[in-house]
Amino acid sequence: VPEEDVTVSVARDTLVCVHAHPDDEALFTGGTQARFGAEGIRQVLVTCTDGSLGFDPKGLTPLDPLHDSAATASTRSFELRASAAVLGLDRVVELGYRDSGMSGWPTNGAPDAFINQPVEEVAERILEVLDEERPRIVATYDANGFYGHPDHIHTHHAVMAAVERCESVERVVAVAMTQAAVERAIEVAEATRSLLPEWLGSRLVGTVLEGAVDVEVDCSSFASLKQRAVAAHVSQIDNEALVAMRADIFAAVFGIERYVTVFDRSGRPSAARRLFDREWLSGS
Ligand SMILES: [Zn+2]
Repeated sequence: VPEEDVTVSVARDTLVCVHAHPDDEALFTGGTQARFGAEGIRQVLVTCTDGSLGFDPKGLTPLDPLHDSAATASTRSFELRASAAVLGLDRVVELGYRDSGMSGWPTNGAPDAFINQPVEEVAERILEVLDEERPRIVATYDANGFYGHPDHIHTHHAVMAAVERCESVERVVAVAMTQAAVERAIEVAEATRSLLPEWLGSRLVGTVLEGAVDVEVDCSSFASLKQRAVAAHVSQIDNEALVAMRADIFAAVFGIERYVTVFDRSGRPSAARRLFDREWLSGS
């Protein structure tokens, strides 16, 4: 056993997930955090934006002139806390930047929009959390932001800048889906007449090659928690299909969370890339 593994078994390990919006934690890393939290690993979540451009409490889209972004932000903060409680997270940090909206929305140009804050400044705030938590592993999005959302991409860049200056971080992994996983999800949904969220059902997600996935977390035993965490984001009615999905089908579609490594100073060969030296299923 390499010496570093002995050290790890003594100190409590920590996973920090950095996301852009309230509900991303439930959708993308919820199963992973629920599972490893249950296994004793400290779970920290950093959410960069206030989600103020989601559906407002009356169900209005942010493109509606009556949309109430202040009410949306406070509702979403409340929902984020509820989701974190379901997942058993130990700490939630809301950086509170203003949601930039989807690519091409006029809100992209707002001076206080998250994407218009300098990467270095955002990185500094993420670094504060990393310095306090000293995690070995950080999870976030890849440079494509999973499906191109500008806030996700900005989050990626800020995380990469932060980890450069945090020695404890050995690896950064990014949430990923393979084409096969997307097709299987669509197949299961069709066979069971279940609806999928638009980004999945319409194949909007940017997929990665099968061989690029080097961590697969089997969190099927925690799928019900993940589904409840998604459900905690009550105001986000575009997640309704996921909330309504039969539990066993949800587990079949979302029971495995996949990651690609986007930063690695661990010095370990890729075949030994189990994040917590526990039962991570290793991709090829
Ligand atoms: Zn998001």
